[in-house]
Amino acid sequence: MGSIVDEKQKERIKELLKLPENAICADCGSPDVQWASINLGVFICIVCAGVHRHLGVHISRVKSANLDSWKESEVDMMESTNNEKANREIWEAALPPGFIKPTYGDSIGLKEQWIIAKYSNKSFSPPNTKDAKRINFEVKEGWIVKKGEVVKSWKKRWLRLIDGEYLYYYKGPTEKSHCGFISLRESGQIDSVSEVDSKPYCFIISTPKRRYLISCNTGEDMFRWIEVLRQAVINMPPGTASNGGSGKIPKMSY
Ligand SMILES: [Zn+2]
Repeated sequence: MGSIVDEKQKERIKELLKLPENAICADCGSPDVQWASINLGVFICIVCAGVHRHLGVHISRVKSANLDSWKESEVDMMESTNNEKANREIWEAALPPGFIKPTYGDSIGLKEQWIIAKYSNKSFSPPNTKDAKRINFEVKEGWIVKKGEVVKSWKKRWLRLIDGEYLYYYKGPTEKSHCGFISLRESGQIDSVSEVDSKPYCFIISTPKRRYLISCNTGEDMFRWIEVLRQAVINMPPGTASNGGSGKIPKMSY
């Protein structure tokens, strides 16, 4: 008897996975969706399922669509919503305009921060959500450590994005003169990497001349910086490629 009930619920789950609204992972957009969070009401990929598991069952209760057995009430819950609806109405209801969602190509580290923000902190849930912990993506400066180009040691620097285009680094927040800068106009890519030299929360800015390796103090800092910089690259103010359009390219110094 038990197995017949099981089969029935599994068939229902299979049907739900065929819906276009559930075609991609609710968190990273991967087309390989075989898992679900039965309390959050979303279908997810195996990688994001691993991250959900890590959060603990008080945040997310993960189940495999085909390996686990399903209770009727659990399938009812999944049927009452879908990825598109759950994101639009709850988990991503208050995404900032122009927000660039992490994708399945990103590092586990970035996916983890995104998923923590989304579900543990309810950072993007509707405006009056109780206990929501918002992230201020307007903050465009802060402490980081940066790997040197010549001397390969990590240096503590104050990073500041100016004019949405130049990323200056200083010895401290009140320093007038900078140690150097990165032109985001020349940079095609901001890549997330989980860990380098056992430094956590890293990301890479690639320019034609150099790859800049940056490690942040917290996962949230890394998440915020990657988002801020990816948006800056996409929303670059118009100008010529060589001098940034303004004609006042800052002097290079170290
Ligand atoms: Zn995923």
